[in-house]
Amino acid sequence: MTHPDSPSSPVLEDRFGRTIDYVRLSVTDRCDFRCVYCMAEDMTFVPRAQVLTLEEMGRLARVLVALGVKRIRLTGGEPLVRKDVAHLVRDIGAISGLRELNLTTNGSRLDRFASELKAGGLDRINISLDSLNPDRFRELTRTGDLAQVLRGIDAARQAGFQRIKLNSVILRGRNHDEVPALVDFALEKGLDIAFIEEMPLGQITEHDRGLEFVSSEELRDDLSQRLNLVPLAEKTGGPSRYWQVPGSDSRIGFISPHSQNFCHLCNRVRITAEGRMLLCLGHEHSVDLRAVLRAHPDDDTPLRNAIVDAMAIKPERHDFTLDPGEQLVRFMNMTGG
Ligand code: SAM
Ligand code: SF4
Repeated sequence: MTHPDSPSSPVLEDRFGRTIDYVRLSVTDRCDFRCVYCMAEDMTFVPRAQVLTLEEMGRLARVLVALGVKRIRLTGGEPLVRKDVAHLVRDIGAISGLRELNLTTNGSRLDRFASELKAGGLDRINISLDSLNPDRFRELTRTGDLAQVLRGIDAARQAGFQRIKLNSVILRGRNHDEVPALVDFALEKGLDIAFIEEMPLGQITEHDRGLEFVSSEELRDDLSQRLNLVPLAEKTGGPSRYWQVPGSDSRIGFISPHSQNFCHLCNRVRITAEGRMLLCLGHEHSVDLRAVLRAHPDDDTPLRNAIVDAMAIKPERHDFTLDPGEQLVRFMNMTGG
């Protein structure tokens, strides 16, 4: 494989002709919540020395942008539990050539950080919200305080973030009945909302994923009975499809990793908090970028080459299954959702 000489050309292309210009960077695997679909109650986290420093993450981001990456999303774990994450936002937010720096958060610390993040160059925020009932919210997140998250959502709106998106993972028998209320909440606050099918990542014993699975199609059919959903033509390059209700600017999306295969449009890779570049959420194909970063602290060429070479092992598609015997052992907080 040849390596790029011109840093501004989009050179991250895989064997299937897909250009990779979107990276999800997990800034920590730790979290103040223990959502039932994401983590076990009792989690062991990666020792801190194995997690990339914020400086290493900034360096990595600069190299990725020089390789044509246009969008970076900070995720986790819960990115806002990482000390000084606002420094990282300022560092990455200042990289010229990066079009968008986004964040996915559970919202628990947004009331404290929203304005600082906005000032630091963060473009957009996604906030997870699975229920508007405090007891149920606590059950689903095991530790979360709904009122605190609602304050965080308001803080993000007040800080001036545009197109804030709520993410709701819907489980049958748990929060399936709240879909209309969540949509009403989003419409009322002028937010977008996306409903996510649960993905089989990490072995959880709390519930049976096969039994609690609800397809996007079923959710959309149910919602169509109440609302006039008009499909939006715009494609996101990801697994989501969006609809709108006439008279409202909010978008209602459905993220369907199971029921709709979106792999042919895949434009992304993920980087774990330990610096492992994962080429596909549904496979273990990965490259250890931390080793390269630490072996060559003053020379970015080996890092650039490692990233370009990694494209050769990006799988064509995921093979998600609800069969408990075949689920990936990796948890979502490791991979950066
Ligand atoms: N802590 C932040 C949050 O919750 O938004 C960011 C990380 S979290 C892993 C990112 C997204 O992944 C969240 O919206 C969460 O609901 C979703 N998620 C976690 N586990 C999932 C699973 N097994 N299937 C589908 N979505 C999942
Ligand atoms: Fe934490 Fe987000 Fe996973 Fe919930 S989904 S446990 S908030 S990382």
